[in-house]
Amino acid sequence: EALNKILDIKGSVRVFCRVRPMLLTDKKRTHESISAGSEKIAVKLAGTRREFEFDKVFQQETSQEDVFAEVEPILRSALDGHNVCVFAYGQTGTGKTFTMDGTDEKPGILPRALNELFHQASFDNSYSLSFSMSMLEVYMGHVRDLLAPKPLYRAYEALTRCNLNIQTDSKGSVEIEGLTDVPIPDIAKARCWYTKGRRVRSTAWTNVNEASSRSHCLTRITIYRRGDASEAKAPVSKLWMVDLGGSERLLKTGATGLTLDEGRAINLSLSALGDVIAALRKRKAHVPYRNSKLTQLLKDSLGDHSKVLMLVHVSPCETDVAETICSLSFAKRAR
Ligand code: ADP
Ligand code: MG
Repeated sequence: EALNKILDIKGSVRVFCRVRPMLLTDKKRTHESISAGSEKIAVKLAGTRREFEFDKVFQQETSQEDVFAEVEPILRSALDGHNVCVFAYGQTGTGKTFTMDGTDEKPGILPRALNELFHQASFDNSYSLSFSMSMLEVYMGHVRDLLAPKPLYRAYEALTRCNLNIQTDSKGSVEIEGLTDVPIPDIAKARCWYTKGRRVRSTAWTNVNEASSRSHCLTRITIYRRGDASEAKAPVSKLWMVDLGGSERLLKTGATGLTLDEGRAINLSLSALGDVIAALRKRKAHVPYRNSKLTQLLKDSLGDHSKVLMLVHVSPCETDVAETICSLSFAKRAR
């Protein structure tokens, strides 16, 4: 609770930065271009040194446990009734999916968050908590359901046929028409659905080189609190975990055709997201939600009473420095 108070005082938007470790596949394994402290990161490019400050910087050796320990207070505020959005931002290959999903041996934020929610629910006796889950993907302005009983979108050309509409009701709550929302009564069921969603996402993209990095993958956990007086369930809050599309600039790499359109779509929605977060951070009266599907979807979870955590991922490689500076600059705007 003390932590939640601190979060309230400091505002509703946190920005963390995570530097991934060097991989065997990295061509030139030197660390000279980047140096990170616990709240600062400095990048050297063409003789100039630029420093960026964050709420937290996770250095290369930071474990999944240690990352989760810092994210947990924000997740807890979802149990307190706040809508929460956690975003993984960064160039493709910088560890967004590693942070969100992780591996079997090194689970990321999402599986840990599910554990934590059920753990909290198990010993909470003042009210009873229950959860449901949805998973969806946003690709070139189209929304598709990853947990649908019969996924008809094996070919990405079929995407337009499974585009879901977004509606906002009179109370301002966002409704995604026809989106599958499954009850998750226990951790085993939750893991099962989560695995299914991830599988559907990856199989839909086979044969489409790297295309999955051009889409946003969203997982929504709705938290219900059943009061003593009424049997009816009322949603209390939504927890969104978003693995964003790669932020790299495509023009530079000479992409053409579909990839160029994909890149534009991603860049547009990422900058729309940046605009919304910057407006929230500055407590502006007008927040520009309408500029992308992504921000329309998240409208009721990116507002006054919600908490936002942006996890910016960067590469430690010298060759990626230009992209690293772009990502850090994006994050700085949100902060
Ligand atoms: P992205 O989703 O941003 O494209 P990935 O999560 O797929 O990136 O990461 C790219 C590769 O780097 C993967 O092989 C992943 O396992 C590895 N990786 C990323 N971050 C870490 C980390 N913190 N520790 C160990 N391996 C990592
Ligand atoms: Mg990924």
